[in-house]
Amino acid sequence: MDFNQSPLLVIWEATQACDLSCVHCRASAMPGRNPDELTTDEGFRLLDEIRSFGDPLMVFTGGDPLKRPDLFDLIRHSVGLGLRTNVTPSATPLLTASNIDKFKRCGVTRMAISVDGPDAETHDSFRGVPGTFDRAMFALRHARDIALDTQFQTTVTRRNMNKLGQIAERVYESRSRMWSLFFLVVTGRALADDDLTADEYEKVFEFMYEISKIAPFDVKTTEAMHYRRYVAQRHRQEHGPAPETANTRGMVWRTAGVSDGKGFVFISHTGEIFPSGFLPVSAGNVKTDSLVRVYRDSSLFRILRDTTAREGKCGVCEYQKICGGSRARAYALSGNYLAEDPRCVYQPTLMAAHA
Ligand code: SF4
Repeated sequence: MDFNQSPLLVIWEATQACDLSCVHCRASAMPGRNPDELTTDEGFRLLDEIRSFGDPLMVFTGGDPLKRPDLFDLIRHSVGLGLRTNVTPSATPLLTASNIDKFKRCGVTRMAISVDGPDAETHDSFRGVPGTFDRAMFALRHARDIALDTQFQTTVTRRNMNKLGQIAERVYESRSRMWSLFFLVVTGRALADDDLTADEYEKVFEFMYEISKIAPFDVKTTEAMHYRRYVAQRHRQEHGPAPETANTRGMVWRTAGVSDGKGFVFISHTGEIFPSGFLPVSAGNVKTDSLVRVYRDSSLFRILRDTTAREGKCGVCEYQKICGGSRARAYALSGNYLAEDPRCVYQPTLMAAHA
């Protein structure tokens, strides 16, 4: 795919409203809907334009998308256009068996549910509402019972990094297709003390790499582009310079090079066009601007795709093309989205040679 022309993934934060109050919420969600949210018609037009990119994966997220009464109309429109459509509801009383059945009937490809701990005690303390763990596990089980694919999502923080093995057991029990690990970016309600150090990232990568060899589900990262560098290094240690072939690493290479604004675009609940949900710098608004034009031609998206514009060690790194570092984390921690990813231990060869 040419990421200069089309994203692989389009995420629409259909609403900021949510009945949970998670400690690390990117969206700083709240119970009520914002009156400036995109209307149903604006949503339909947005979906039409997303289809004109070609065949990106369309994800409805929030907040909790189920807080929008028109959610199923929007999903039907998306599916009707031929878009592969995923949804990420929150595990609240709105996530009933009947609504999950309706996702399936409307043609949703996959439902993603966040679970941040191996048990109710850990997970519910993250999510701020008792009963959320049980509801999340019920939703995952019910979806699989009706043959709706599921994705298990975990935000990795210092609170749960030592429990990932136990969480992996829950992923296995839920029969999810994918375990998607989000790495904290200190934005929204995310707390700086929960952020992993660069060395802790490497420990988590080692765990992910080993489990991906044996797990019956795919393992994927968000905002940890340097996991691709880790996999490339481990692969070379274990197999020499032979090309990648193993299924366990297929997911990493399918997403190689994807990063904030490059293969990825995020539309906020009020229509702002961001390179990702963790990089809240707007390049336009779908109420007045063409999403396609902004993605392809805006100076923000263009410079984020320009690997020669990266600064610090990410600018000279030999893994730049497959990794490039998290632009969102660089921005959150330094105010400069072109700066190096401060949570990567790697010293590029060029820098090591001059040290
Ligand atoms: S230095 Fe930057 S580009 Fe290189 S592996 Fe680390 S995060 Fe990726």
